[in-house]
Amino acid sequence: MMARDSEALSDKLMGVPELEHFDLVVIGAGPAGEKAAAQTAYFKKRVAIVECEPEPGGAAVHTGTLPSKTLRETALYLSGYHARELYGVALEVDRGATLQRLMSRKNAISAAESRSFRKNLAYHDVQYVQGHGRIVDAHTVAVTSSSGERRLSADFILIATGSKPHRPADIDFADDWIHDSDEILTINDMPTSLTILGGGVIGCEYACMFAALGVGVTLVDARTEILPFLDAEIVARLKAAMSKLGIVMVQGQRWTTVLRSSNGVVTTLSDGRTIENQQLLFAAGRTGRVADLGLETVGLAADSRGYIPVDREFRTKVPSIFAAGDVIGFPALASVSMEQGRVAMCHAFGFGYKQAVAAEMPYGIYTIPEVSSYGETEETCRQKGIDYVTGRGLFENNARGKITGDLEGITKLLVDAKSRKLIGVHVIGERATELVHIGQTAIHLGATVDLFIDMVFNYPTLADSYKYAAYHCLAALMAKQ
Ligand SMILES: Cc1cc2nc3c(=O)[nH]c(=O)nc-3n(C[C@H](O)[C@H](O)[C@H](O)COP(=O)(O)OP(=O)(O)OC[C@H]3O[C@@H](n4cnc5c(N)ncnc54)[C@H](O)[C@@H]3O)c2cc1C
Repeated sequence: MMARDSEALSDKLMGVPELEHFDLVVIGAGPAGEKAAAQTAYFKKRVAIVECEPEPGGAAVHTGTLPSKTLRETALYLSGYHARELYGVALEVDRGATLQRLMSRKNAISAAESRSFRKNLAYHDVQYVQGHGRIVDAHTVAVTSSSGERRLSADFILIATGSKPHRPADIDFADDWIHDSDEILTINDMPTSLTILGGGVIGCEYACMFAALGVGVTLVDARTEILPFLDAEIVARLKAAMSKLGIVMVQGQRWTTVLRSSNGVVTTLSDGRTIENQQLLFAAGRTGRVADLGLETVGLAADSRGYIPVDREFRTKVPSIFAAGDVIGFPALASVSMEQGRVAMCHAFGFGYKQAVAAEMPYGIYTIPEVSSYGETEETCRQKGIDYVTGRGLFENNARGKITGDLEGITKLLVDAKSRKLIGVHVIGERATELVHIGQTAIHLGATVDLFIDMVFNYPTLADSYKYAAYHCLAALMAKQ
């Protein structure tokens, strides 16, 4: 009898569930897990994916990316936001009906996207295992569910368990009017006014959505500037747009206490000021989902924020265990998590492509208006001593911008003054998150500013703003000669 057979027999006698063997077991069916599993199965490997929630999709489908983007679109539609810009019409928002319609559309999109996850996994013959996954040893995952425990062994294990909102102990999240960024998606009453703690991407996005629906929003951020990784000019334009929406911004202030009052929630700030609004959203930070994952059984430990350290191949200290997505920390984006999952599995199984996640990633921020950015900013150019010029295509001068009423937008290009190469693109305005990919592709391919001068763009399009931004850069380059 082989050693493995005798182990299995003794396990059986001791009541330990029999092992089923796979090439890969993934824990967590969010974007990182799903893409890693599907890609590995595509290469004819035997793959199982373990998910503890009733439906796959993770934060991207149920509590983060897609629900918040669906709420944004629905908020724009129900509030008549575009109609206001075009025809000066202000719609009265029926608060009860609006919340119901907001939530029902969000739920429909989440359900449809979950079905897509399941379909993709089934298409690739990935075995879907419902239950909580826990690492038992370097090659074994125990899955606990209402039907008992099942053990899966694998050559490789991928941890893709994501993250959850950080909840400071001194804020009472049990209160109906105090929410984290998961709970805000299940509120029963539309706030009459809202304090948002945290001026990061999530805080800014929700601030815009609620403000568009007519909710009085105060956004509090500890830093002196919101979204400091963006080009400062774009931040200034975004702040002006947010202020036009009625958002009150309090910057450079930490919260010291958050307490329920008879009328709402009172936040005290580090300078002693107080802010009282009916409800509060805490949107400052997330933490890795590593509880009950059994990391310690294989000598692994998460850092102080719950993130699992990995190397450039997304391998943990244990050679057979990889980790990808939010559970490894920055940048904690669905877009990047999917790529990390794919790259990790290329290294695990030696697939001969996709050896690294692209060094530079685009940022897409679904504020109102949208913001998107790729490459150098004016600030990073100055820090690096890059001689650069800028050019802007203004939507107010763009035929499509005039038609849609999107007059505040711009496409801003940064060009290296010596090589004429495009080195940065920053867009603010509707569809910015789509438009940025034109500039991103050009930068990826090492194009010079002449690309946009030579290209013919559809007319009228917002994309045509690239040509005008490029002409603007040309003028700046000539002025330097
Ligand atoms: C409000 C908000 C807006 C966002 N907007 C964007 C955006 O516009 N663009 C963007 O790119 N990103 C956005 N993100 C980030 C994005 O949602 C995450 O980066 C992405 O979901 C991470 O994917 P993941 O697979 O690593 O983890 P997750 O999506 O969190 O999935 C992890 C999965 O693992 C499961 N799991 C956890 N522990 C176990 C266990 N022990 N056993 C079994 N299953 C387990 C969970 O149930 C979950 O299904 C947003 C996030 C939030 C909160």
